[in-house]
Amino acid sequence: MSDNRQRNVIVIGGGPGGYPAAIRAARLGGVVTLVDKGGLGGTCLHRGCIPTKSMLKFVHDYQVMKRVLKEAGGGPPPAPSLTAMMNQKNDAIRHLSAGTRALLEKNGVRIVSGTAVFQNRHTVRVLETGEELPFSAAIIATGSKSMELPIEGLDYPGVLNSDRILDIKEIPVSLTVIGGGYIGLEFAQIFQALGVRVTVVELLENILPTEDPDVAQSLMKIMKSTGIIFYTAARVTRISLADETLCITIEKEGREDKLFSDRVLLAVGRRAYTEGLGLENIGIRVQGNGAIAVNKHMETSVPGIFAVGDAVGGVMLAHKASAEGETAACCAVGIPSTAPYRVIPSVMYTKPEVARVGLLEGVAREKYGEILIGRFPFAANGRAVLEGNSQGFVKVIAEAKSECIVGVSILGPDAGHLIGEAALAVEMEATLADVADTVHAHPTLSEAFREAVLDAKGEAVHIPPTLKKVR
Ligand code: FAD
Repeated sequence: MSDNRQRNVIVIGGGPGGYPAAIRAARLGGVVTLVDKGGLGGTCLHRGCIPTKSMLKFVHDYQVMKRVLKEAGGGPPPAPSLTAMMNQKNDAIRHLSAGTRALLEKNGVRIVSGTAVFQNRHTVRVLETGEELPFSAAIIATGSKSMELPIEGLDYPGVLNSDRILDIKEIPVSLTVIGGGYIGLEFAQIFQALGVRVTVVELLENILPTEDPDVAQSLMKIMKSTGIIFYTAARVTRISLADETLCITIEKEGREDKLFSDRVLLAVGRRAYTEGLGLENIGIRVQGNGAIAVNKHMETSVPGIFAVGDAVGGVMLAHKASAEGETAACCAVGIPSTAPYRVIPSVMYTKPEVARVGLLEGVAREKYGEILIGRFPFAANGRAVLEGNSQGFVKVIAEAKSECIVGVSILGPDAGHLIGEAALAVEMEATLADVADTVHAHPTLSEAFREAVLDAKGEAVHIPPTLKKVR
């Protein structure tokens, strides 16, 4: 780790890993330069979290409007406007991007627009201007890029990735989404709500393979009920042109099938983006999947050079990148720090939302032997019912002996907000009793979390009695 005389810090990349790192390092007394080539805020702000959530908000509002009109006996709803949706998204990006710039400037961070390349272990060069930036510590936060599949036909113009689909100019008639992870499913729901015929193809048995299988199966059932077609355990082998449309050949249970649609979205995951940085010039160790290897202080194999966020692989989420960025910033100015998280919550913003923190049931059982499971449906929660959003449930997993909460999965309204309390519980090793003894306000969705905790003890109030569930 660098000593505390080394305070000349270069941050490469202005996404949720890089810009909080720059601010933290500056607040701790570092002289900080941030080099970014793609727009402050990174993938998250320009092509990830913010645009997709803005589009989801737009289509969810549109669906509410359709429902209200129908209930009020009004005429047919106006068609959804792609232009209005894109304008709303672009406004949010502009607003947040300006805010990020202002924050960096107010903290005294110098912002350089351009591509950074390591010249040696002490200097970064800006490709476009040739400017040389000496550093005593550097933080690499260059993010990730969409993965591709080794199949024929990906270069047809109608085949898009998650960046290019944000720029489409008209609503397609049909869309095939390859990949049933959170990015694919969020886009599937956005386009289905715009009136597009959507098909999702997933290689594995279940969509959302990293989530609780109960949650994944329930969500698939809900999405199917809205008209989205799913092919699971199906492999896309080829894309070809058939007249004006794309023909997607899939293999399922040894049989070949053909799907036709006018757009294809490839959403099969992301990999660390470190190309062109010159890492090989300075001997930084990179793993087979392209991710930069780091220790628990986020330091690479070269002392004084740190890496954070998607560029180091693992869970690729904005809040994990930020937590790592702040750790690296402390280390870069000589203050010892360790990546702070034990658990990282994850959220998918479909309707209903999916959120999880901590262990899945199978992993918890393997680790602890006996576990307690509590489950509470939103159909028995007053707030969810009165808001007309009562699909889904909360599932709580605790270690049987200590009754410590080790995992929580939520499918339901505002799961993304609700998971905050669960994350605190898992992080602080709270017991079932800690949550059960905490009074939760009424009528709120958070009561469902407490009821799921009570159910694990066989004591839930708003569902029929069950026994304490040692599994
Ligand atoms: P990035 O945000 O990718 O930032 C990297 C920056 O570095 C970019 O600005 C890039 O231009 C710049 N850069 C790269 N190379 C260089 C170079 N050589 N010189 C100068 N600059 C360089 N995460 C969530 O937590 N919640 C969500 O809801 C969510 N939704 C998503 C939806 C989509 C469609 C996608 C694609 C991603 C989503 N993510 C979400 C993931 C999230 O966007 C990433 O985990 C996060 O952006 C990673 O932050 P980062 O700082 O590591 O990298």
